[in-house]
Amino acid sequence: MISVRFLGTGGARFVVARQIRASGGMWFRFGSEQGGAVTQIHVDPGPGALVRALSSVPPCEPRELDAIALSHKHLDHSGDVNAMIEAMTQGGWRKRGALLAPRDAFEGEPVIFPYAARFVPTHHVLEERSGPYLINDVEVRTSVRHHHGVETYGFNFTHAGTTVSYLPCGRYFDGLIDDYRSHAPDALIINVLRYRDSMDVDHITFDQARDVIAGVRPRVAVLTHFGTKMLERDPPKLARELEDELGLKVFAAYDGWTLDVSTEIAAALA
Ligand SMILES: [Zn+2]
Ligand SMILES: [Zn+2]
Repeated sequence: MISVRFLGTGGARFVVARQIRASGGMWFRFGSEQGGAVTQIHVDPGPGALVRALSSVPPCEPRELDAIALSHKHLDHSGDVNAMIEAMTQGGWRKRGALLAPRDAFEGEPVIFPYAARFVPTHHVLEERSGPYLINDVEVRTSVRHHHGVETYGFNFTHAGTTVSYLPCGRYFDGLIDDYRSHAPDALIINVLRYRDSMDVDHITFDQARDVIAGVRPRVAVLTHFGTKMLERDPPKLARELEDELGLKVFAAYDGWTLDVSTEIAAALA
């Protein structure tokens, strides 16, 4: 069983600053069909992540988190990381869990405060194409380095034979598709901030996302992390168009939505 709760689906400064879409990141749950232990990993806890986690129904419980992972240190991905660390460790009284983040999130001008980092016993300083880092029975591998200013890596999560990949922000470049395809993800979550590139910034556009999904060919693709231009274009409509064009399941994420990865993959195989 794998599920992903979207605590936020907004990206870019305007959408996040005005909270047109929330920015709480994604809450992954990996568990067995028979019940038993569940591994929980919170990815990219942007501004509002703690409030969104606790107020979601049923709540995402920070005290039960096994790891917090940052794809990169930009505010929309890390704004609540220290609040989340305190919540995971009960203010530092219960040292537990793991942190996964690029080196520049820990050092230099760190977004993970050193005092908070000390509450967490395991630090995985990410490098490109590194891992597997083991979080219980979940294997985490990073992608090639993204072209995004600060150090940025995608994640490939593998649990019980199923792989979910997260392709965070960054400019399109040759080799991006090959790198994600090499992990053969069953599900691919992709940050699509821009519709077309009018400003030439370090983000993937909708047209490039189409090429990535077509090249990687997951069974299920999810668009998220929308900027204003993407929101104006109606992401669910764009997802339906892609689905028809590419012949695979495509979702547009929305705040509070849960992707039941296992169910969707089974449906795609049927
Ligand atoms: Zn971003
Ligand atoms: Zn960024």
